[in-house]
Amino acid sequence: MLCPICQHTSEVIFTAHGYGIRDCGSCGHRFADLATSPQHTQEVYGDQYFQGGGAGYPDYLGEARILRDHGRWYGKRLKRHLQPGTILDVGAAAGFVLQGFVDCGWQGDGIEPNPKMADYARNELGLKVQSGALESLQADKAYDLVSLIQVIAHFADLRQALQVAANATKPSGYWLIETWNKDSFAARMFGQNWHEYSPPSVLHWFSPTTLKILATQFGFQEIARGRPSKWINGGHAKSLVQYKLQSVPFGQQAGKLLNVLPEYLPLPYLADDLFWILLQKK
Ligand SMILES: [Zn+2]
Repeated sequence: MLCPICQHTSEVIFTAHGYGIRDCGSCGHRFADLATSPQHTQEVYGDQYFQGGGAGYPDYLGEARILRDHGRWYGKRLKRHLQPGTILDVGAAAGFVLQGFVDCGWQGDGIEPNPKMADYARNELGLKVQSGALESLQADKAYDLVSLIQVIAHFADLRQALQVAANATKPSGYWLIETWNKDSFAARMFGQNWHEYSPPSVLHWFSPTTLKILATQFGFQEIARGRPSKWINGGHAKSLVQYKLQSVPFGQQAGKLLNVLPEYLPLPYLADDLFWILLQKK
């Protein structure tokens, strides 16, 4: 399989959860050795992803406050670079992050593959979130900002999804991308056991460098980057760690020790493996 970023050849360097992890021999991009079906997005982001734990969420709706605060954090942080305008939040889920942007003056639309989550955003929060994959976006306008917060690593057809995102961005508009950094200290320390090596929901593992190369191919240039202030609730942290521990010796016993964590206690996420980048369309 050729690298979706630079088209160079790649090889499988290890397996995770039964899937080969490919490494590009030129740019170093990593991606899952997986031929995805057209139904991939619908299958992976079923209700189980938001309620079933594993690589997904044990209780997505229980993280409403944390996620709304996350949107607000970006809403404030972006004011250094651009004024609030129109935003398309890709992978909007139940709309909590988008709600945080709206709190900061943005006019938001969203798109979300899980129909129940999109219903929640529309019916409970009154947000315009359409149900579907980004590739099927029905957009009658372009936006000042397209946000891809923990979304880009999940695209089955990375290039097609980004082409749609580029078309939905106004001239001189922006992309805000938050994703995991495979070159971070945490990722290198955990190696093959890094929590983000969790196909088939995660399909791509970027670094800031490879993400910039990719964005440039769609006409976007870096404006700023940093690490988000991220919080996670106790139940979600426990669920993710226990899922990863299943594959290491004594992991299940170690995982049980985490049961003392209160479910809804907000915990700061301190590792260095998450980053955001703001890019502008040239
Ligand atoms: Zn490459």
